[in-house]
Amino acid sequence: MPQTRRGLLIILSSPSGAGKSTLSRHLREWDPDISFSVSATTRAPRDGEVNGQDYHFLTEDDFKRQVAEGEMLEHAHVFGNFYGSPKGPVKAAIDAGRDVLFDIDWQGAQQIRNSDLGRHTLSIFILPPSIAELHRRLVSRAQDSDEVIAKRMQKSWDEISHWDGYDFVLVNDDLEATDAQLKTIVSATRLRRSQQPGLTDHVRRLQAEFEESK
Ligand code: ADP
Ligand code: 5GP
Repeated sequence: MPQTRRGLLIILSSPSGAGKSTLSRHLREWDPDISFSVSATTRAPRDGEVNGQDYHFLTEDDFKRQVAEGEMLEHAHVFGNFYGSPKGPVKAAIDAGRDVLFDIDWQGAQQIRNSDLGRHTLSIFILPPSIAELHRRLVSRAQDSDEVIAKRMQKSWDEISHWDGYDFVLVNDDLEATDAQLKTIVSATRLRRSQQPGLTDHVRRLQAEFEESK
């Protein structure tokens, strides 16, 4: 059987607080071979965030220089700060047959889908069960000030309104159920024809065997 496979670009988007960081962590625990695309951002680190692990924290000048030099696969302005996905690590992982997970907004998802890596992309949008629950989760996460939470809630409709540009949409009500759905989607998409470059050779071999057996 063909062993080689091409890496997938797995994009998770949602309004802030719907659960994409939690789901993305669980997906990587399920398959530690999935690498995470560490974004660059100009926003300040939150308590506990580690430079190079959660984000590459950059000055606005450095961020803009990297964009100008074509080092970002995509980039966007979100909540008053710049965010972008560095291209180098993504290309390296995909070429080595490893999947890369992105926690990015709809603008980034759209840019990647329209890039030359678009056909290797799996995009998933996470919806909250209700707006009240979205607010509850933002508050319970206890990471942001009331002002930032209010800003994120205001922005949430902006993000939700782009739900229909994604391959799959999950309503993250019961966390275990959503975890399971996410794994099912990833497992199935790995079998997409475009992800299995070894298939052509395999079918050629089958054809040769078929001819021989006549
Ligand atoms: P995001 O990355 O989308 O901003 P998080 O993953 O940080 O969201 O989740 C926000 C909060 O909601 C966290 O405290 C998380 O533990 C909680 N949470 C995530 N999914 C669920 C769920 N299905 N049910 C209840 N709480 C959840
Ligand atoms: P946060 O500040 O909460 O970490 O992220 C805020 C928003 O920016 C989230 O919607 C997140 O998905 C998005 N985001 C994070 N990194 C990137 C990125 O590299 N590119 C884009 N387009 N959005 C990002």
